[in-house]
Amino acid sequence: AKTEGGNQFLFFSSEMNQVAQESMRMENELRNALKLQQIEVYYQPQVDAQTLQPIGAEALVRWNHPKFGLVSPATFIPLAESTGLITEIGNFVMREAVKQTYQWYQQGHNLRIGINLSSRQFTQSNLMKEVQELLSSNDLPSELIDLEITESLAMSDAESTAHILNGLKAMGVSISIDDFGTGYSSLAYLHSFPIDTIKIDRCFVQNLNTQAGQAIANTIIAMAKSLDLEVIAEGIELTEQIDYLQARHCDILQGFKFGKPMPAREFEQWLREQPK
Ligand code: C2E
Ligand code: CA
Ligand code: CA
Ligand code: CA
Repeated sequence: AKTEGGNQFLFFSSEMNQVAQESMRMENELRNALKLQQIEVYYQPQVDAQTLQPIGAEALVRWNHPKFGLVSPATFIPLAESTGLITEIGNFVMREAVKQTYQWYQQGHNLRIGINLSSRQFTQSNLMKEVQELLSSNDLPSELIDLEITESLAMSDAESTAHILNGLKAMGVSISIDDFGTGYSSLAYLHSFPIDTIKIDRCFVQNLNTQAGQAIANTIIAMAKSLDLEVIAEGIELTEQIDYLQARHCDILQGFKFGKPMPAREFEQWLREQPK
């Protein structure tokens, strides 16, 4: 039994070693991914809930790995966060998305772009400068840039959050609360921060076929309306979900029903295919 235990330890330890090596390899590869142009921005359509006309897109990052294919941001964003690479990647996504939105704007499309900010990127000292530089590099109306932050990010240091959000707001960009209702929920912050929009998380939309799910969605929408906030519902996959949210005067819809996240050229194709 003793030998067995010993072997078992060796087995686990070599397995752990493998995991550690694997994650170190990933880290090195991620470090090079930007240089090798493996990091790409995809765009997921957002439509007006009443007319179903395109109003904008959410920018979603992709890692096009030569061996593993498209790596999900759910996998590499946490790694990018823990290694600090997120600042570089996040700034790349922000620049790329704004550049693309400006191109569309010059072609006559007034599309608003949602850009995800991770907590490390949010607290980096030069975020405001980065956004300011982006804004002064073109004449894109600043309200077409919508920065998405999560509740847990916002609440981790409420005082500095308020400071940064007020600074960004003064530049004219819009601010959204992403995944609303899934994290640290304190309703008090909703009126102490300069927020424009809340995004109802996909998990609530998925539950719209239950009474409890409907009650939660109704409550979020009613609360947003009374605070004069705009409401985006995420993860729309079914016609019934569109009907329900239209009837409740949700403002904007996003989900596979309208379009999956796609490369810019495909998004342009999608735009052309929309009924006028
Ligand atoms: P998120 O910000 O909540 O983004 C929405 C996610 O839901 C996206 O996953 C999108 O593909 C997915 N989605 C949208 N509609 C539907 C639907 O109808 N059905 C289903 N099943 N899924 C839908 P994605 O692209 O894999 O991104 C996952 C998360 O990674 C994002 O969640 C966001 O937290 C993070 N992320 C993505 N891009 C960035 C980025 O550039 N920076 C940062 N910091 N985080 C990012
Ligand atoms: Ca988001
Ligand atoms: Ca979300
Ligand atoms: Ca999410």
